[in-house]
Amino acid sequence: MYTMNMKIIYPEELQGIVHEKTCENEEMYLKVIYLLEEDGLKPVCSNNVSKVLKISLPSVVEMLNKMDKKGLVKYDGRKGVFLKPKGKKMAKKIVRNLRLTELLLQDILKMKNIEKYACKFEHSMTDEIANAITKTLKNPEKCPHGKLIPKI
Ligand SMILES: [Zn+2]
Repeated sequence: MYTMNMKIIYPEELQGIVHEKTCENEEMYLKVIYLLEEDGLKPVCSNNVSKVLKISLPSVVEMLNKMDKKGLVKYDGRKGVFLKPKGKKMAKKIVRNLRLTELLLQDILKMKNIEKYACKFEHSMTDEIANAITKTLKNPEKCPHGKLIPKI
């Protein structure tokens, strides 16, 4: 949970984000907004997104406005950013892929420092791979961080 005077500690799953081209696409934004909301940060502000993605605030604002026009989020500079149903549906799928990737890396491939690799790997995840991991791990409910894997 977050309070006004507390230093924000972002979820572990967001600490593996490295500033790359992939950070600039809307999927990354949707993922970050979803994970911050899930962690109890409501509303999520452009400032939070800017810090997590290490992208300048004006660029984040520009992107959020674009996503607002596309009907993915509702964005208001003062009130913050909220996922709209279409954006939430996409975010759920991305987070599902992220958490299945984490399980793949940790439980099947026996890797450590999974946060470092999961972010890159999740972008290559297809529905077929996601389904295969789900089947191999017998419908896992939680990721290695103990967070629920969204059902889609
Ligand atoms: Zn996780």
